[in-house]
Amino acid sequence: MRVDVLVVGAGFSGSVVAERLASHGRKVLIIDKRPHIGGNAYDKTDEQGILIHPYGPHIFHTNGMRIARYLSQFTEWRPYEHRVRAKVADRFVPIPINIETVNQVYGLSLTEQTIGAFFESVREPREVIRTSEDVVLNAVGRDLYEKFFRGYTRKQWGLDPSELAASVAARIPVRTNHDDRYFTDAFQHMPLDGYTAMFQRMLDHRNIRFEGGVDFFAMRQQIRASHIVYTGPIDAYFDFCFGRLPYRSIQFEHEYLPDKGQYQEVGTVNYPNDQAFTRITEFRHLTGQWHRGTSIVREYPCDEGDPYYPVPRPENEALFKRYEALARDATEATFVGRLAQYRYYNMDQCVGAALKAAENVLARLGLDDVRPAHESTPRVRVTHVAAPDHARHDTPPPPAVRPGIA
Ligand code: FAD
Ligand code: UDP
Repeated sequence: MRVDVLVVGAGFSGSVVAERLASHGRKVLIIDKRPHIGGNAYDKTDEQGILIHPYGPHIFHTNGMRIARYLSQFTEWRPYEHRVRAKVADRFVPIPINIETVNQVYGLSLTEQTIGAFFESVREPREVIRTSEDVVLNAVGRDLYEKFFRGYTRKQWGLDPSELAASVAARIPVRTNHDDRYFTDAFQHMPLDGYTAMFQRMLDHRNIRFEGGVDFFAMRQQIRASHIVYTGPIDAYFDFCFGRLPYRSIQFEHEYLPDKGQYQEVGTVNYPNDQAFTRITEFRHLTGQWHRGTSIVREYPCDEGDPYYPVPRPENEALFKRYEALARDATEATFVGRLAQYRYYNMDQCVGAALKAAENVLARLGLDDVRPAHESTPRVRVTHVAAPDHARHDTPPPPAVRPGIA
């Protein structure tokens, strides 16, 4: 196959670009050094037949209806609103902090009318919000900061909140109502058959070839493509010429608990203080799959290992800007995604960035051989690998839905 574009990385960013380019008549080779598609959002059935997320829990949520509409071509959805508890002083209380959290932690009976005055009495106002510490102290004061944020953040990043950009803690709102959902986005659904099935459909196109277990840097010299779309760590592309950009990693400890109907009340429990891990997620809540046992994952953040998180702080942003300047001049390649743009992107933000990147690549390569959509290969619906009999749903799963997307 003649290749117009080489896409490096088959996660959300690379797969969306590959699909868009292929649908516009471009021949795409997409490679990943891992043996599978999906990047960090890859899911698979474990030995017991339970659908798990090997690289940690992935919950899809977005306010971008264009993004939801785009992905809906490749999946049906199952409604899911994620809820999280934090273990604080031997209680499991809701996070993000809301009225219930404060009432349970302090034994109070605050209401929507009185919670504002409570936060006002405990907060440490900051004139300038620069760091994650500023964000939390400014909103809820020192005691709640220490109970919920300080220890968790130190474990997650190996840094104190005072050393991290405000944007990190700002991901977690503080609520003056009873809403205990982790996200409030308009669209909160999981791909019905899982992420990998969705990626299979996205990449099932005669103009796309996927090769797994291939490291870009081992085949860089042999590439014959008009353009490269690179979604790996940006510093690696430029041979670390300005030094290494820090990326935080995680070790995942997966466990199957036989004969345990349900391990915990909600999808995720955060452990801000005592344990070495940050959180435990039980997959059945996310996937809706019921089984006589249950599968969970514990997350142990670390420096070494696959790069998962850019580390948002000013010195890293300054170093990234130097690489970004090189990327702007590297006309042979387009850089997109969480690792290549060094942005703490959620999945939907990767889709948004990738749709935009694909438009830029098409504009650069020219649109002269665009084929209308109806001429592209019909998409075969690849169903998820069936779970063995013992793993089948023993209570009916919620119905599949195609949410009303305007
Ligand atoms: P990736 O998924 O990292 O894909 C990049 C791919 O490039 C990788 O597969 C990698 O193997 C490949 N690659 C790198 N270098 C090379 C090379 N040299 N040669 C070949 N291949 C290479 N987002 C949400 O919206 N909701 C969540 O609940 C959520 N939970 C998360 C939980 C965890 C633990 C983590 C780490 C992330 C989570 N995210 C979540 C973020 C989400 O994973 C990312 O936004 C998204 O998956 C990033 O997609 P990407 O394609 O940019 O990068
Ligand atoms: N955080 C915290 N305590 C919590 C939850 C989050 O301190 O109980 C902070 C922590 O720094 C974390 C950041 O908020 O890294 C973002 O949390 P999120 O749940 O969005 O992290 P992710 O799912 O991306 O790992």
